[in-house]
This record gives sequence, C-alpha cells and structure tokens, in this order.
Amino acid sequence: MPGGLLTIDLAAIVSNWRALDAKTADTVETGAVIKADSYGLDVGPVGQALQNAGAKTFFAALADEGVALRQAIGPTARIFVFSGYMQGDESAFGEFALTPLLNSTDQAARFLTDRKGAACGLQLDSGMNRLGMESAELASIAAQIPALNPILIMSHLACADEPKHPQNTAQLAAFTEMVTKLPDCNRSLSATGGILLGSDYHMDMTRPGIGLYGGAPFIDARPVVTLSLPVIQTRPVAVGESVGYGAAWIAKRPSVIATVAAGYADGLIRAMGPNASLYTGDTRCPIVGRVSMDLITVDVTDLAKVPASLDILNATQTVDVLAKAAGTIGYEILTSLGNRYKRVYKD
Ligand SMILES: *Cc1c(COP(=O)(O)O)cnc(C)c1O
Repeated sequence: MPGGLLTIDLAAIVSNWRALDAKTADTVETGAVIKADSYGLDVGPVGQALQNAGAKTFFAALADEGVALRQAIGPTARIFVFSGYMQGDESAFGEFALTPLLNSTDQAARFLTDRKGAACGLQLDSGMNRLGMESAELASIAAQIPALNPILIMSHLACADEPKHPQNTAQLAAFTEMVTKLPDCNRSLSATGGILLGSDYHMDMTRPGIGLYGGAPFIDARPVVTLSLPVIQTRPVAVGESVGYGAAWIAKRPSVIATVAAGYADGLIRAMGPNASLYTGDTRCPIVGRVSMDLITVDVTDLAKVPASLDILNATQTVDVLAKAAGTIGYEILTSLGNRYKRVYKD
C-alpha cells in the first residue's frame, strides 16, 4: 500500500497559467517553467496540460528535464534550457530540439563550433550574480553575436518577491542598458514575481514557475496540491505519557493520538513538527512530538470519529503555510514531495 495520496489539480495549474497570462498585454507571451519535474509535480501530465491550454514555450533547468518534457509533449513547443550548453549534454540539443540559454563566453564558443545556425538564447547577468554574461563578457564576444543570432535574451531578478526592493529597478535598468547593444529579438526578465511588479518588467516573454503551481508570491493562485495521509493506528495516551522520539511531547490531558504514514523521507520536513497540523475537512489536528522518517503523530482527541486519513496539504494549509511552519518556502515543500505517494491527476 502506498503511503499518502497526492492529488494534483491540473485544472488549477492551467487556471493559474491563464491568470498570470491575463496580467500581461496580449503582445507578451507567457511561458511556463517546468524545472525540477515541474516543481515536483511531474513534467509529463503538467507539460501536456499546459500545452493543451496554449503554452508554446517552456523552460527547463537542465537538458535532461528538457528531454523528459519533449518526450511528453511532442515536437511543437519551444523548450529552453537555463543551464545553457553544458559539456556532456551536446547531443541532446539536436536530438530533442532543445534551445540553450547560453550563459558564458565559453558556452557561446562551443555552441558556435558545434551547432552554428541552430536556435539559441543569451542569458545576461543584470545583478543577481548567479547565471549569465556580464557586459564585459558580452563585449568580448561582440563579433560572434550576429552568428549566434539569438532568439531570446533574458535575465533573472533576485528580489522580485519584494516589490519595493531597490534591486528590482536597478536590475531593470541594467538589463535595459545591456540589451541596447544586442540584436533585436525577444526579451524576458520576469518569473512569477516579476509579472506582479507590473508592465515595465514584462517585455516580450514571461517565465512563471511557482505561480503556476499555486505558490507565493502569486497569492491569488488556486491551490494545486492536496496530500492525504492514511491513519495507521490510533491510541489513547494518558496524562504524563510521551509521544515519539526524544519524548518531546507529553500529554497534559487524556489524549488520542493518530499515527499517519508519511514523514521527513517524504518531504515533510522535520522542522515543521511543532508548528504544523493535519486536517479533516476544516478541523485542525496538531502534530505532536517529532516528525519521524515515515511517521507523524497527530492529536485527534477532539474528533468525534477518527477518519481513515488526514490531510497535510489542502486549501487551508497550503504549501506556503506548511513552508512557514518549517521555516522554508513553498518551492522547497513542493520540490521535496517524495515518490512514495500515490499520485492522482485531476483535470
Ligand atoms: C526558477 C526560475 C524561474 C521561475 O521562477 P518562479 O519564481 O518559480 O516563477 C524563471 N526564470 C529562471 C531563470 C528561473 O531560474
């Protein structure tokens, strides 16, 4: 028997993609970021649903992820790869029609040697100092840029989830300045956060990821995942008895404790222990004691009847709420969801 039941609402993902698309002008294309297996939700069904909804451009982190998407959605869509033209990946770009976002002069040179005439994009560093070429590097390959003939020039914002952060306008200005010297092709600066910063940041193409999957900073997103954990057993615990590793929780009243089948090995981060709850409908049942590798103990004393399963992710306890309990972000909750769950995709 599988542990939990992870329900992924593809209609909600499509609706979130459309809602983010509607925030930009009709001339702006809305892409879809599917890195890390579509933020842990499985690139196959997610990619197909987004393509059926009208998405034509996808972004993967690694060439292998682009290959997996290509195999799921067929030949039509454009698939960009953020890590660019990495050594060892060369054959995948031709075989699976992937488009690298070149991020160093070395990648540009190797791409021209191997694949001159094939489509590529350029990735610029406008201030995040993570990936992409800086002005001096661009200048050093100025003579090769016409031969590269990029179809997309992009950069990434470091602080887009903080609308007032001065780095947003600084990066916008830096990117705008850098692209003036480059060929006229599509520009892209914004992920989910940048879309919400307004039209100055939209340019020709946006690259939302987390917003599609129901996470902040797109606070109006429809929740995408529900995670139900089966109750393995229920036991009465007397006043003064402890529950779990380290005897970290001690009953202050006669209690009923349910043990459910999932733990930190399934991405339910140990640090959330004392702050998170499980739910039956809208009724909250606090986690008690430490989260173990495969098990979580829950105080169900106040329930009239213990249900067969309890939810740890639902419309109330979203990925962001659970993330906060564990001191992390929704992105990490999603991408940590383990492969012991039975997955069900809702259209
Ligand atoms: C992950 C990523 C995105 C998507 O970011 P979200 O915050 O999930 O919308 C877009 N562009 C780049 C370069 C990324 O690395």
